[in-house]
Amino acid sequence: MRKHDVVVVGAGLAGQRAALAAIDAGREVAVFSKLHPLRSHSGAAQGGINAAVGKEDSVDTHIYDTVKGSDYLGDQDAIEFFCREAGPTVVEMEHFGTIFNRSADGSLARRPFGGAGFPRTIYAADRTGLALLQALWERLGTEEFTLYEEWDLTSLVVREGTVRGIVAFDRRKGEFALIEAKAVVMATGPFGRVYGRTTNAHSCTGDGVAAAYAVGAALKDMEFVQFHPTALLESGILITEGARGEGGLLKNALGERFMSKYAPHVFELASRDVVSRAIVTEILEGRGFPGGYVHLELMHLGKERIESRLQEICDFARHFAGVDPVTQPLPISPAQHYMMGGIGTDIHGATNVRGLFAAGEAACVSIHGSNRLGGNSLLETLVFGKEAGIAAAAYAAHASVSSLTEDDLATAIAPIRAWSHRTDGEDPSVLRSEMQRVMDQYVGIYRTEADLLEGVRRIRELKKRFARIRVVDQSLVYNVNLSDALEVGHMLELAEVIVVGAYARTESRGAHSRRDYPTRDDAHWMKHTIAHRGADGPQLSYAPVAFTRWEPKERVY
Ligand SMILES: Cc1cc2nc3c(=O)[nH]c(=O)nc-3n(C[C@H](O)[C@H](O)[C@H](O)COP(=O)(O)OP(=O)(O)OC[C@H]3O[C@@H](n4cnc5c(N)ncnc54)[C@H](O)[C@@H]3O)c2cc1C
Repeated sequence: MRKHDVVVVGAGLAGQRAALAAIDAGREVAVFSKLHPLRSHSGAAQGGINAAVGKEDSVDTHIYDTVKGSDYLGDQDAIEFFCREAGPTVVEMEHFGTIFNRSADGSLARRPFGGAGFPRTIYAADRTGLALLQALWERLGTEEFTLYEEWDLTSLVVREGTVRGIVAFDRRKGEFALIEAKAVVMATGPFGRVYGRTTNAHSCTGDGVAAAYAVGAALKDMEFVQFHPTALLESGILITEGARGEGGLLKNALGERFMSKYAPHVFELASRDVVSRAIVTEILEGRGFPGGYVHLELMHLGKERIESRLQEICDFARHFAGVDPVTQPLPISPAQHYMMGGIGTDIHGATNVRGLFAAGEAACVSIHGSNRLGGNSLLETLVFGKEAGIAAAAYAAHASVSSLTEDDLATAIAPIRAWSHRTDGEDPSVLRSEMQRVMDQYVGIYRTEADLLEGVRRIRELKKRFARIRVVDQSLVYNVNLSDALEVGHMLELAEVIVVGAYARTESRGAHSRRDYPTRDDAHWMKHTIAHRGADGPQLSYAPVAFTRWEPKERVY
């Protein structure tokens, strides 16, 4: 049987940074990734990474902006740690070889981003994620570790409350294997594909979050789903906040720059929840364009600036929307973009399950609280990926070895085998599409009790139908029918936690906007939602928010 000290699941920025830290700490490391590492969603990040590095900016302002952006639900001790690590982290990435844009004086160029009191988003044109991912991959390549590429984690193995290993599936051969591990770092990234309209890649299905939930890990603040204000109309492809940072304007069908009504001080650069709600309100009140969208105008910035600072946006707009941003406005509306919730961890990535650590978008520390600021999550992957790697290595140094057997593997995969042995049953891809429609319709930007109840009912119905799915394709090599089934099963679990948490939270805070409870209710709801998997679905409990220096205030932009 394969055995490793530290198994990192995920090779995006969080997973790679965790692996590097664990190797640096002297442990033997294996990395599992269902994609080639450079295809991870981190590589799609456009706008940039936050760090208060200039003389005029300060770490305290970054902390304050993040606390305020979180609508006071972020843990302030974690946010303080995070913002202090920002500068050293960006410098380290530069030393690893990331080529960031420069200002005329040679310092790191910074662009304004929503909700930030100062331009502090450092960038590599509009391909920041890819630039970081490539540099980190090259750095990691100088170390020794085992890479399991195109292997899917399917579940975690836990005995007596302690992680003992993982079960994974080799896409190229169709074989399942049990891999023993002293410590596991879950860095499987986003799960935006529970929605239909999303900026997330097709691979963002939350497998690791669902696997952790299945073995008793607490999921935190899952009801907080970020919708990005500007995604291309039909494809949902992201148009980075950097486009507004560079001076892009939002206009409704009457030609009005409507953000003046919603954020009279900062207009288009209010935080994402505020801008997304403004766009949806304009559309619902009849001031959008037919088909439900508004315009993002860049034309006034000039060809030179658009084509040099927003190269990728130009390509996306031309190829996927048939419009040229140099001469035409872009048709945009909001789309699901980021999950504030995830596997609950402390600052060092530890979860409530011994030996299980988590980092990146799969985790919830929590620094984003109920609303993440753009540019903070690339930073999060690196800061907390490193912490999780260090902590997992320290734990693995003293952890005992387990003794799993092939019977453990047989038991773990018996339900999956049953899908392929059935002679009738439902197609998992049908359930995937239905789930996405339910989430888009009932658990979107604006929420109500009636919608959420309907959402819970429908997701539970889909879960029941999932118990009867059938995998028709019997082939072993790249069986996407089987991968699809595994992913849909994971996403249905997470969709249920999102909607149940949203139904329970009878207030509006950050990205969670209840029409029937339109205000923030600190007296009852200044607390994190914790979800444990129970026999009949998620069991909710609540945990306090950590405060250091910032008292809650009304959040205006
Ligand atoms: C279009 C887009 C643009 C963005 N732009 C920005 C930005 O400008 N600034 C910013 O701060 N943030 C941005 N974000 C958010 C940020 O990019 C992500 O939160 C972050 O990159 C996630 O990194 P990660 O390492 O946690 O996950 P990922 O990079 O998604 O990596 C996940 C890894 O897990 C692996 N994996 C998943 N499931 C399995 C499984 N079952 N078995 C094995 N491996 C598995 C995948 O193969 C992958 O390697 C953007 C997000 C999107 C979608």
